[in-house]
Amino acid sequence: MTKRLFIKTYGCQMNVYDSARMAELLAPLGYAMTEGPDGADLVILNTCHIREKAADKVFSELGAIRRLKHARERQGGRMVIAVAGCVAQAEGEEILARAPFVDIVFGPQAYHRLPEMLARAARAAGEQVLDTSFPAEPKFDFLPQSGVAPGVSAFLTVQEGCDKFCTFCVVPYTRGAEYSRPADDILAEARRLVAGGAREITLLGQNVNAYHGAALADGLKSAGEWGLGELIRALARIPGLARLRYTTSHPRDVDDGLVAAHRDVPELMPFLHLPVQSGSDRVLAAMNRRHSADQYRRTVERLRQARPDLALSSDFIVGFPGESEADFRATLDLVRDIGFAQAFSFKYSPRPGTPAASAADQVPEPVKAQRLAELQALLRQQQRAFNAACVGRVLPVLFERPGRRPGQLVGRSPYLQAVHADAGMERIGEIVPVTIRAVAPNSLAGVISPPLGGTGEVAA
Ligand code: SAM
Ligand code: SF4
Repeated sequence: MTKRLFIKTYGCQMNVYDSARMAELLAPLGYAMTEGPDGADLVILNTCHIREKAADKVFSELGAIRRLKHARERQGGRMVIAVAGCVAQAEGEEILARAPFVDIVFGPQAYHRLPEMLARAARAAGEQVLDTSFPAEPKFDFLPQSGVAPGVSAFLTVQEGCDKFCTFCVVPYTRGAEYSRPADDILAEARRLVAGGAREITLLGQNVNAYHGAALADGLKSAGEWGLGELIRALARIPGLARLRYTTSHPRDVDDGLVAAHRDVPELMPFLHLPVQSGSDRVLAAMNRRHSADQYRRTVERLRQARPDLALSSDFIVGFPGESEADFRATLDLVRDIGFAQAFSFKYSPRPGTPAASAADQVPEPVKAQRLAELQALLRQQQRAFNAACVGRVLPVLFERPGRRPGQLVGRSPYLQAVHADAGMERIGEIVPVTIRAVAPNSLAGVISPPLGGTGEVAA
């Protein structure tokens, strides 16, 4: 009999990828996905610990699900509740203590053992199962091969964990040490995704450009270790794979091989999310980012020399402990120097257990709010200018799904902008030249142009 599975995913693309793999892992056990938690046999909350009050949000969500679980029991059924992801990793014991109706808690490195955990929870109803270990065996060796159609644009995790220990960040504690999957496993997964209809693959990792995976020559002999640049070159040779992207990278790990891949591999899209966090060397040092603002400027220069149309995105934190007005001004200067196509910006918020959380010189909330507003105004202005400069150009758009209006499709430009255009459903999965006619705050609109030669851009 089919069992109903509901997974709620919070946070980053790596969690989206993990949730998809959990669903695949559970499919052979008879679980099929449902739209909501009501009536589900298994509910998994795949949590994220990056944002403020992450744990509080999980507890309030659990309160609502507990009511559904009790309703299910009154009807003679059973709902198993599992909490996964980074909040589970960081606060596993507390979740079990504060929410005794939760059956299973497991961290991001343990989900390949989910069938075993479910069996334990089923055998002893009432026993709570906790697995927040960082197992010696990499989970990728135990996950089944994906049988689910991936969609036009697919994610593929190539690297996990982080050894950088930025002083504001929980990731090294929740995701564990840096690990790179062997290149052959990644190539095999990419070929399966392409065979299933993917035209674009985004390589994922908490620190994706620190990738250093074991490689085999001709699938047999060891060919040493590959960096991300070599991996991208090999992936770009897969027939049918039209576009590659990667996220999230660290400025320190942009090596010559990666820069050369941006120069030589047309499938690698000219858009890069490269978080800088701050433009002040003092703050960057206190964050333990291990690079200066000028090193970031030089890295961007090297990348732009290799790929002149490269568009940049970034993450910023304002109000890090000790950040002065002059430090904040240095961030605005860096933003003006680089010119970002888009960016994410946050007020610093202390994460328990991280070094910066206990710093004495916390910045007052109103100052953080005022700086964030000023930074976001500048970033919005740059994003608007970048999008406006696309009007009149012909961009190759990979159509991904139907738009809101009938007869309309939505796709992505090389610069990751959402683009709407009128087109038939049969064009989903195609790369189509679109003349950009209008700009909305978060997307572009255009009309399909005469065919392009190849997948590149042509002048309007
Ligand atoms: N690995 C990436 C890097 O090196 O920048 C980022 C990973 S983190 C999941 C995503 C973003 O969340 C960070 O770039 C940072 O801007 C933000 N972030 C992380 N911890 C934060 C905190 N304690 N307060 C505010 N923002 C935070
Ligand atoms: Fe967190 Fe990124 Fe720093 Fe690693 S490099 S500690 S994931 S912000």
